[in-house]
Amino acid sequence: MKVAVVRESAPGERRVALVPDAVAKLRAAGIEALVETGAGDGAWLSDDAFTEAGATIAARGELAVAADVIVTVGRPDEEVVTGLRPGQALLGMLAPLGDPRYARRLAEAGVTAISLDLIPRTLPRAQPMDALTSQANIAGYKAAVVAAGAFGRFFPLLITAAGTARPAKVLVLGAGVAGLQAIGTARRLGAVVSGYDVRPETKGEVESLGAAFIELTSVGPASGEGGYARALTEEEREAQQDELASHIARQDVVITTAQVPGRRPPLLVTADALKSMTPGSVVVDMGASPLGGNVEGSQPDETVVTENGVTVIGAGNLPSTMPAAASAMYARNVSALLLYLVKEGSPPTLAIDLSDDLQRGVVITSEGRVVHPALAESAGGTARVDGASH
Ligand code: NAD
Repeated sequence: MKVAVVRESAPGERRVALVPDAVAKLRAAGIEALVETGAGDGAWLSDDAFTEAGATIAARGELAVAADVIVTVGRPDEEVVTGLRPGQALLGMLAPLGDPRYARRLAEAGVTAISLDLIPRTLPRAQPMDALTSQANIAGYKAAVVAAGAFGRFFPLLITAAGTARPAKVLVLGAGVAGLQAIGTARRLGAVVSGYDVRPETKGEVESLGAAFIELTSVGPASGEGGYARALTEEEREAQQDELASHIARQDVVITTAQVPGRRPPLLVTADALKSMTPGSVVVDMGASPLGGNVEGSQPDETVVTENGVTVIGAGNLPSTMPAAASAMYARNVSALLLYLVKEGSPPTLAIDLSDDLQRGVVITSEGRVVHPALAESAGGTARVDGASH
């Protein structure tokens, strides 16, 4: 079986889907790796490093012909998709939900599409494959570092002959994987940290990191399904924004990480709340998206300074800014899933079994059909090879 690693093409993407260590591990299981020339450049992984681990470096055209499975970080570019042939598999963070046409296209091409971002995260055996968690950990860490970098004062308490610096006050909104990592990182840098989430079960996790948990009186518990938050009602949203504003006004740094599955990120920091902050304060919005983020007016990859001197940083692809660590962790997720999907034998082959709950969660197309329940529903039924649905 041959796995091909393509060079990522999304603007600014520096990660690579497999690293040399993972290549060696796959080889030990009888899986060969083909790596596109320069695929690891963005993560400081040379073609030679891949070759030493046993990979074959190849041009893009050769990869498409020889590969059984193409592995990627994000969606591959048009050239790769057009070159896919029936029987090939595509494995990456394909973000298929909300875009049934993409899945239908892959089904029509006869491709087995496997989307790592849909891994059923609550299954213990899926944890080594959980790329959302591995990448969110990196993003949370980097968000705290970015905030510290933009802040014109110290995070820790410093007592020096030239004076004493008080520790920075940092508030992290949203205490999921990224939020908890941001809290831990800000704590390690010596800040006085508090955290908030609508899921009350996060209180213990926040406190165990040495941060204070903020409880709002105006919003009740809002735990949803699968460990995620539910969307708040309009009244709850307004009450939350108002009550949070009084906490935000007292902070030097606010890092927001709140997400609700399938919805635009909730707005937590309003323009009025930004106005209440003191000059020199920093806000990092990890929820920033073209549809809006957790902070009013923030845009991904854009930094603005408000009239009252607050720096608002819309985070973009934070994991890609730490490409060596992010690729190493992502490659572990990819190789764990590949090894799980492969039937041992000589040679090993991909054995898709949709009676398995883990596979049902990640496989979006198989044998010419859109098979993922969430997509089959939004596509109005299971797509057949001819594109019809029923
Ligand atoms: P996420 O990225 O979807 O959301 C980040 C956080 O934002 C969540 O904690 C959520 O509660 C919070 N949030 C949403 N709306 C909010 C609002 N209006 N105000 C304040 N906070 C708000 O979540 P995630 O980090 O991907 O993970 C969420 C959950 O999944 C966690 O419980 C995590 O422990 C769980 N998880 C479990 C496993 C596992 O069981 N193996 C693996 C990964 C994650």
